[in-house]
Order: sequence, then structure tokens, then C-alpha cells
Amino acid sequence: MEGDDSIFLCECGKVVREEIREDTFKDYINTSRNPSTRTTGHRNCGLIFNFVDGKWPKKYSSKKELKTLAATFAEINELSSEETGKFLLEVDRFKSCGKLSDDEILVYAYQNVLKYKSAKSTGKPLL
Ligand SMILES: [Zn+2]
Repeated sequence: MEGDDSIFLCECGKVVREEIREDTFKDYINTSRNPSTRTTGHRNCGLIFNFVDGKWPKKYSSKKELKTLAATFAEINELSSEETGKFLLEVDRFKSCGKLSDDEILVYAYQNVLKYKSAKSTGKPLL
């Protein structure tokens, strides 16, 4: 996963959005690039992300496994039933592309749900 992503999936299962300050904290860690590299931590679980040396294992689950993951994800991230429906459709759509890892699919699908939500709240036509 690229470090410049402002939205990513934490190991605790929650989506982290860097623009939401209450969700994250800043810290400095020792990485192979710099003994004092500025990085981001997740308030929810206390995990500090290492974007330099961090390994983000890519997982490619079957369609069935991914469905279970997506349902858990929707629950953890407190999506409404309407949003969950939209989210699961998006997950299916991204999975059909065939090339994306589980994390990428969940994050992209979640981003689309966010867009859908903000379009709805501003009264613009739905996606
Ligand atoms: Zn976390």
C-alpha cells in the first residue's frame, strides 16, 4: 500500500483517514530511511504505521471469503444497512476486476461509499 494514501486499512480492521485528526496521532520512529521518521499512529488501537519498512502483506481471498471480510468490515466501521448494501456491491465490482488485493478492494469500496454519502448529504444526484 502506498504511503501517500490518506485512507488505509489498519490491522485492527478500522479504516484510518488521515484527514480526521481525532483518528490519528503523529509520532517519530526509527526506519531504514531515517532514525527519526515522521509517521502516523492509529488512536483506536495504538498501532504506529511504518510506511518505510512496513510490510503490508497482500492477500487475495476467494469471492466467498471476501464477502465475509466485507461484512465484518462494514460492522467494525459502523456502516448503516443502506451503506452496507452499497459497500458490498462495490466490493463485488472491484473483485470482478481481478487484480486488486483484499485491502485495496475494501478501501476503494469504502471510498465510494463515502462519496455516495456526501453526494446524498449535499443533495447532488446519487452515484
Ligand atoms: Zn487500528
